[in-house]
Amino acid sequence: MRGEGDLRKRIYSGFILLILPCVLVLSVLLSILFHNAAKTQELAAVRDHAILISDLLSSGVIGDVRFSDYSNLSPESTRITVIAPDGSVLLDSRTAAARMENHSDRPEIIDAFANGVGESMRYSATLRTDMYYYAVRLNDGNVLRVSKAVGGLAGVFAVALPVAAAVTTLVLCLAGLTAQSLTKRIITPLSSIDFDSENITVYDELQPYIEKIDRQKNEIAEKMAQLSDRADTINAITGNMKEGLILVGNDASVLTANNSARMIFGENIEKRNVMHLCRDANFQGAVKKCLSGANEEAQLELGGRVFSVYFSPVHSNGNARGAVILFQDATERNIAERQRREFSANVSHELKTPLTTISALSDMIENGIAKEGDIKSFAARISEQSRRLLMLIDDIIRLSEFDEGSADKEGAVVEPWELWELAATVIEAFRGNPRGVDVRLTGERFEISANRRMVDELLYNLIDNGVKYNRDGGSVTVELSLAEGDAGSPTCKISVSDTGIGIPAPHHDRIFERFYRVDNSRSKKTGGTGLGLSIVKHITEAHGGRLELESAEGEGTTVTCYIMR
Ligand code: ADP
Repeated sequence: MRGEGDLRKRIYSGFILLILPCVLVLSVLLSILFHNAAKTQELAAVRDHAILISDLLSSGVIGDVRFSDYSNLSPESTRITVIAPDGSVLLDSRTAAARMENHSDRPEIIDAFANGVGESMRYSATLRTDMYYYAVRLNDGNVLRVSKAVGGLAGVFAVALPVAAAVTTLVLCLAGLTAQSLTKRIITPLSSIDFDSENITVYDELQPYIEKIDRQKNEIAEKMAQLSDRADTINAITGNMKEGLILVGNDASVLTANNSARMIFGENIEKRNVMHLCRDANFQGAVKKCLSGANEEAQLELGGRVFSVYFSPVHSNGNARGAVILFQDATERNIAERQRREFSANVSHELKTPLTTISALSDMIENGIAKEGDIKSFAARISEQSRRLLMLIDDIIRLSEFDEGSADKEGAVVEPWELWELAATVIEAFRGNPRGVDVRLTGERFEISANRRMVDELLYNLIDNGVKYNRDGGSVTVELSLAEGDAGSPTCKISVSDTGIGIPAPHHDRIFERFYRVDNSRSKKTGGTGLGLSIVKHITEAHGGRLELESAEGEGTTVTCYIMR
């Protein structure tokens, strides 16, 4: 990109390119002109000199031609020679005349003898310079010649060059300074343009460009605002998604990821290759297929959780440009599915046992295999197994009501009611139980706004277990008290303690699961379905509460239930 420096350089070099040849041409022209003028003057001076001396001689101001006389009259650079009509040199201001050769062939001498004056310009090899000769015929018939070395153009240049160089340097300096101030004057308004201001006025010539820039600036600002709005919306949507979302490029590197994806893979996943984030072969295979344009699905286990992963290719102009990968946490759904499967298997098994007994006993009676004396006891067992079946079916129906959520709607509370009275009524049902277990009620009297039918079921199941898994003559204590919930919400505490067989510690975690029993035969013997505590758990959760279990083998059990009032 060309910057301010580029413009500055261009102005500088423009100046130099303009000025340098001008200065050089001017120097040469002036040197030639000066040289010519000086030469003309010099020649005129030589002629004047010759005429002056000849006049002086002719007018008798000086008598005879003697070198000593001239030496005072002529400057040193001038040479004076007197030549006789036969061409012999009579006198010379530089050399002894006798040593000088005959001058009759010199053009200026020939002209002077013939016409009175003669001149000539010749190169003197001895002096290595041009010589100008001017000859005048004297009254006595001899010729007086004045000669002078005339400097060549090279000599003029030799003198003029340093001056020209000095002038050139000076002019260049001045040009540099002028260029600098000119550049500054041109550039400063340009570099100080405030594109944010409403009215930009720099140079009239630039106005169309400024207006164009201004329009483009507004368009860019509008586009940026739109993009930022869109990005905010997308961020708000993806940021609040429960599902993890990763967008990868064609090279499988992560372009962007939402918060949930960061929770799964860690904070700094941008720019990393998605294949390095997860080494699962199914996942990597699905990513590859997706990047080639196919929609894929995979199940993935990550950090103890199960994810359903959906891969969708991103197309642009018909080419796959990357992929969107969506991670849906399917852990709960998987657990629920597993529990449902187990529940169905358990239900079938639980129903099959009494039905098999009923079927076998009734077959024996029908086929006359049963003895007359056994028929009564068979009928009693059929009746007992039928009751058990009914109880099982009742509990199963109840649990499916909880699963569907229909149980929550029943018995909606309008007015608060007193828990103590309900508990007293439930306890009444256990009076005179065959094990002789004493059931007591203690604590405070208060009103609650809970679902009455559900709390009735909860109390019944807990007291029933307390009696069933007790020793003969033991006791069950139901204690009601007020408490404060986790968020300071009004809560009540219902605890049912017994003096029974207790639950060994390894079973504590699983005791509230459907059909889970510590001792299968004992539970069945006492008419248990293995569903009572599951129902208690559901009821507690439906009331925003929680359960606590304290139990020691052989000592007794306390189940405490906190529910919102
Ligand atoms: P069940 O119908 O078999 O009683 P629950 O769901 O009510 O089914 O209880 C599950 C299992 O927990 C029981 O089979 C029993 O082994 C154990 N259990 C429940 N309550 C007590 C208790 N109070 N004392 C000892 N064991 C208990």
